[in-house]
Amino acid sequence: VTGVSGETIAVLGLGRSGLTAARALREGGATVLCWDDNPAARDTAETEGFEVRDLMKQGAFDGIAALITSPGIPHLYPAPNPVIARAYEAGIPVDNDIGLFFRSYATRAWEKFDTSPKVIAVTGSNGKSTTSALIHHVLVDAGRPAQLAGNIGRGVLDLDPAIDGEVVVLELSSYQTDLARSLTPDVAVFTNLSPDHLDRHAGFGGYFAAKRRLFAEGGPDRAVIGVDEVEGRYLAAQMAEGAADDRVIRVSSGTKLTGPGWSVFARKGFLAETRKGRQVASIDLRGIKGLPGAHNHQNACAAYAAARALGLAPRQIEAALKTFPGLPHRSQLIAEADGIAFVNDSKATNVDSAVMALRAYERIRWICGGLQKEGGLDALAAETGNVRKAYVIGREAAQFALGLGGVEAQVCTTMAAAVEAAMQEAEPGDTVLLAPAAASFDQYDNFELRGDDFVAEVTARL
Ligand code: ADP
Repeated sequence: VTGVSGETIAVLGLGRSGLTAARALREGGATVLCWDDNPAARDTAETEGFEVRDLMKQGAFDGIAALITSPGIPHLYPAPNPVIARAYEAGIPVDNDIGLFFRSYATRAWEKFDTSPKVIAVTGSNGKSTTSALIHHVLVDAGRPAQLAGNIGRGVLDLDPAIDGEVVVLELSSYQTDLARSLTPDVAVFTNLSPDHLDRHAGFGGYFAAKRRLFAEGGPDRAVIGVDEVEGRYLAAQMAEGAADDRVIRVSSGTKLTGPGWSVFARKGFLAETRKGRQVASIDLRGIKGLPGAHNHQNACAAYAAARALGLAPRQIEAALKTFPGLPHRSQLIAEADGIAFVNDSKATNVDSAVMALRAYERIRWICGGLQKEGGLDALAAETGNVRKAYVIGREAAQFALGLGGVEAQVCTTMAAAVEAAMQEAEPGDTVLLAPAAASFDQYDNFELRGDDFVAEVTARL
């Protein structure tokens, strides 16, 4: 981190990103004071030689230039963390690792190179990880040096020193964008918007506002924007106003975009790129194993557009899309046996992402359930046309099953019971799909462990 030498900076939250920030600040010449409510985390910091200071103590912020916090700590809603509240009271700027990254990465890189390295930032409600990983895959496949960071890959302050011509692909969640004091990517990608994490952002408006910050203050040179929701259309219109006509690339899954600008859309399994209303390239997406379903076609369009914004050729991108291995827990084909496919989509933690999964497969034996999110299940109940039967897990499985409308549903509660029942009843041509439409915290520490459990239960029975 540059520009912090001689300053005293406090770090709140000593998980992975907090500790990385503390190290990077120290390397940049800052004096670092650390705090975490958890004594074990404080011990770790002390072992690394950091000074621990109780930031709730009177006068704790005297002489401190900034407070760096972690994405897991709420800074305004549903209630501000008391340390952050005190920092605001004391008039101390609050920032996070992403803000530090943007400020120092750009400075460092521009000092060193003729062609400045580029940063692509990806945000949105769903498809961020897939889109980020896909952009990274496409770049690497085309021979461009690239690093993947943020919510996926490495911490932003943990990246290798930039090399000439490099691209950093950042996945950013709303928890990161709402707080970062500096957000200046060269290319910003907005995948889509659906209600999620509303408690942390005081409702839908706050959630959209957090994501929109990537497009504020002059904004990026290039913006790739999913326009399937009204918020995306609004954002695209705003970014395009008074700008060059190649600044915005509109992206859709399902809608043919024939406007005067630059667009990439997928329809009926084909991706099309249009400029000024004329088609300039197209790709057959059907049969690309790593990208099944209309939702992944949306991700493919966004990644394609981002790669085009960086000057890659359509054929180069097409070749790379075909070799994308997919990400664990996201439409992940884990096995095929006796004509039955097993798909782990544990990352479908909300209703919208589960709907996408239900549309992507036919003849589904559907394992769902868990901790329900706000908004109810009605949208889900309307999308069960491809579902042969639901096998419901979670502590509130019975209640969840009631919300699924007319589809046949068995209350299984545990993953083992659900997998057992689904495999007993599955026939050739069926897909046994884990797409919970709910958070995992009632039974698991995180969605990865839930997905691993599914994989283990399936594998044990094959
Ligand atoms: P994020 O990083 O935004 O959470 P992921 O790429 O990890 O997104 O995908 C999360 C889940 O959302 C996937 O398991 C899939 O079910 C669903 N999904 C992926 N891409 C999309 C999309 N473009 N639109 C809607 N749902 C999606």
